[in-house]
Amino acid sequence: MLVSLGVESTAHTFGIGIVDEKGSILADQRVSLRPKEGGILPREAAKLFSERGAEVLFRALEEAGVGIEDVDVISFAIGPGLGPSLRTGAVVARYLARRYSKPLVGVNHGVAHIEIGKLLTETRDPLVVYLSGANTQIIAYENGRYRVFGETLDMGLGNVIDTLGRAMGIPFPAGPKIEELARKGKNLIDLPYTVKGSDLAFTGLLTATKKALEKHPAEDVCFSFQEVAFAMVTEVTERALAHTEKEEVLLVGGVAANKRLQEMMETMAKERGARSYVVPMKYAADNGVMIAWTGLLAYKSGLRTSLHEPVNPYFRVDQAEIPWVKERGGGSGVP
Ligand code: AMP
Ligand code: MG
Repeated sequence: MLVSLGVESTAHTFGIGIVDEKGSILADQRVSLRPKEGGILPREAAKLFSERGAEVLFRALEEAGVGIEDVDVISFAIGPGLGPSLRTGAVVARYLARRYSKPLVGVNHGVAHIEIGKLLTETRDPLVVYLSGANTQIIAYENGRYRVFGETLDMGLGNVIDTLGRAMGIPFPAGPKIEELARKGKNLIDLPYTVKGSDLAFTGLLTATKKALEKHPAEDVCFSFQEVAFAMVTEVTERALAHTEKEEVLLVGGVAANKRLQEMMETMAKERGARSYVVPMKYAADNGVMIAWTGLLAYKSGLRTSLHEPVNPYFRVDQAEIPWVKERGGGSGVP
């Protein structure tokens, strides 16, 4: 039974995951930067990762009850992400691969969000709605790649939510608190709704929402913001669903935790005769398990990464090779 160890370090979280070929999760250890105020400073994240990385690794091996010699493949997130964060994880992975003579596989972080979602929801060929801090993309498998059928033209939705939170004095990550306030809102304030073809733009909405805070109760502002932002995402998802004719919609990334968003997606999917799924919350946020699992799929398809390959902060999901995904999506990857 092949065992893969994955290193995640694209942004705020350093994670080590260990999985086997059947998709069993043997270990999941993480440490995250939680700034008291303001956003994530890349250098601070890298500092935390280099200080605590070894400890996270040892905890993961202990949790899995395996030695490093029992691991068959070392996987790591090679991009996209913040340069300093990415490089810290890459150093750990390259060191382990070299020191213990293990094959190395660099994984696209977005592809990993998709693959862990497919594994845990048992979806076969979903239209993926990937909503994290930095990313907002509607993705589906077509003709050998995960293709992007719509995306943000400016900010990622999670960053929009966190920036709004900062204006309200809510610490990072602001999503859960804004969701809670939104639930108490009653009045829909007029806010700009920006869909351009199959793409989205959020900065106009963000500016108007911050301005609305001067005149309206926070609950109404959060409620209105969510209604508009999530309706925009649902509209482009519906368009992509009509175009791709997929039968499953899968929400992944930290923003997928939002109940109102889940509800809107479910209603839309149902009306189109599709089923909607949400990645289990524990694996919606960044983690090493998704890297380990995707690394294992890549390894079994023969992909390898050289020790000299640099990280790629701008590695798009549609640039990644995914030979394990066959026509009709290839299933969750579990034999
Ligand atoms: P990720 O980058 O995938 O780790 O996702 C983190 C983002 O998810 C942050 O911007 C959070 O504010 C956001 N988030 C977490 N929980 C929620 C929620 N309940 N509603 C909306 N956004 C959320
Ligand atoms: Mg992520």
